[in-house]
Amino acid sequence: MQVHDFRTGLVTWIDDHGEQLAAQVEDGSVTAQLDHQRRVQRMLFDDGWMRWGWPERLGGLGGSPILRAVLGEELTSRALVHTTSWSMREVLGPAVAEFGRPEVVEEIFPRLLRGDEFWCQGFSEPDAGSDLGSLRTTARPHRDGWLLNGEKLWTSWAHHATRCVVLVRTGQPGSRGVSAFLVDMDTPGITASPLQTMAGVDEFCSTSFVDVEVPGERLLGDVDGGWKVAQYILSCERGPIFWQRCAWLGHHLGMLLDVAHDEASQSTLGEAYETLWAFRAQSKATQDRIARGDLPGPEASVDKILIAAADQAVFDAARQLLTGAIETDDTPRGRAWRREWAYSRAATIYGGTSEIQKDIVATRLLGLPRSA
Ligand SMILES: Cc1cc2nc3c(=O)[nH]c(=O)nc-3n(C[C@H](O)[C@H](O)[C@H](O)COP(=O)(O)OP(=O)(O)OC[C@H]3O[C@@H](n4cnc5c(N)ncnc54)[C@H](O)[C@@H]3O)c2cc1C
Repeated sequence: MQVHDFRTGLVTWIDDHGEQLAAQVEDGSVTAQLDHQRRVQRMLFDDGWMRWGWPERLGGLGGSPILRAVLGEELTSRALVHTTSWSMREVLGPAVAEFGRPEVVEEIFPRLLRGDEFWCQGFSEPDAGSDLGSLRTTARPHRDGWLLNGEKLWTSWAHHATRCVVLVRTGQPGSRGVSAFLVDMDTPGITASPLQTMAGVDEFCSTSFVDVEVPGERLLGDVDGGWKVAQYILSCERGPIFWQRCAWLGHHLGMLLDVAHDEASQSTLGEAYETLWAFRAQSKATQDRIARGDLPGPEASVDKILIAAADQAVFDAARQLLTGAIETDDTPRGRAWRREWAYSRAATIYGGTSEIQKDIVATRLLGLPRSA
């Protein structure tokens, strides 16, 4: 399938299914967001669109991974799905496909594509965020598998997820003693306790693991080889997924055109547009690289820095142009803008903070010395 044919066919399909696809903004809950996405994904899967860009062994129809980016772009630029939950499959799926045992992956992946399952990412802990290598959740050999104990923090959608990619300590301190597992969230001993974001949404959880039994076949990669899995996931999380976040931001910027009547407003809008399109140029290069079969390494940090700035520029422009609406408007529309503005504050934190990304750019891309 060629990109142009895919896009043309998809747009026609979206036009034909407009009413069924439209998201409800009335209820901004995570439950409503995920239920809606499940419905949309199922429709897309049944009609094939969801399967393009994934290998056949995973339930896909083959073709370039760029088709997945086009799908995300066409859906989020019309706000038919929310970018945050849409991205999770693209953050975790490629790594699970790459490092998971083929028999495990081939069985569960079609369910992920069909929207029957959501997955979550158990990396951060109370004392291990930026310094991920200091994580303390452990896995010890137990019967034919492993026994997990510890606590994860900020695990997005853990309370709705079917599975979690969990980083644990199996060996020496630091990154060399880390392993990765794909864990079923209904395993006895896992408790996901929701935490509210400042947007008032139960998006993430504190997730505890008490004597959680995990079969050996759920190991991703090698024992003590989890850092490689983590880096692969972070490459996806910091670069490729933001192509569709850009489309989502462009959609919101477009909504502000109606209120940009004076020169000052138009200039605010123009500056946000400029920041967003600077990111889009960078992101296009990232997508082209992926289309050539090459996942970005530390370069993804450049994308992450740029999208975080663009995200905040777009919603700061909204706050300025919608004078008071984000602070005081209690209509569904006002609440939706408020949620988005609040979420944009997290853009410089999730997936690794902007300070950490700048550090990576300085040391790994520019070769500058680390401070003592
Ligand atoms: C909306 C949202 C969703 C998230 N979802 C998930 C998820 O699904 N799964 C998951 O595992 N995690 C998730 N996270 C957690 C996220 O990855 C961490 O918050 C992030 O990595 C920062 O870690 P921390 O919160 O422990 O902050 P810390 O690491 O304690 O950092 C605190 C401050 O110190 C600065 N800092 C720390 N170290 C350095 C340094 N070496 N140099 C310069 N500055 C430094 C940081 O930039 C930051 O400003 C989510 C976070 C948010 C906000």
